[in-house]
Amino acid sequence: MRLVVDLNRCQGYAQCAFLAPDVFAMHGDEGLLYDPQAEESQRARVAQAVAACPVQAILVDELDLAGTGAGPAGTGGEASHA
Ligand code: SF4
Repeated sequence: MRLVVDLNRCQGYAQCAFLAPDVFAMHGDEGLLYDPQAEESQRARVAQAVAACPVQAILVDELDLAGTGAGPAGTGGEASHA
């Protein structure tokens, strides 16, 4: 699985490092290190970290979706004019 942390948003709360220590680690006072290609087995922990991050800085699988074109194709939402 792929993940990205928006380090501009990240405030170094370390919730993620607490919940998924194999993927996220605090380095120094405010620096966050993480594995952008985390093992699939870490998915549940990463999901917990995503949910726990106070600033929603962790994005999962955004790159995969962008690369494959998977996901909603944007067919809905057209208002019908009478
Ligand atoms: S939980 Fe969010 S804000 Fe805290 S260190 Fe992790 S990514 Fe940064």
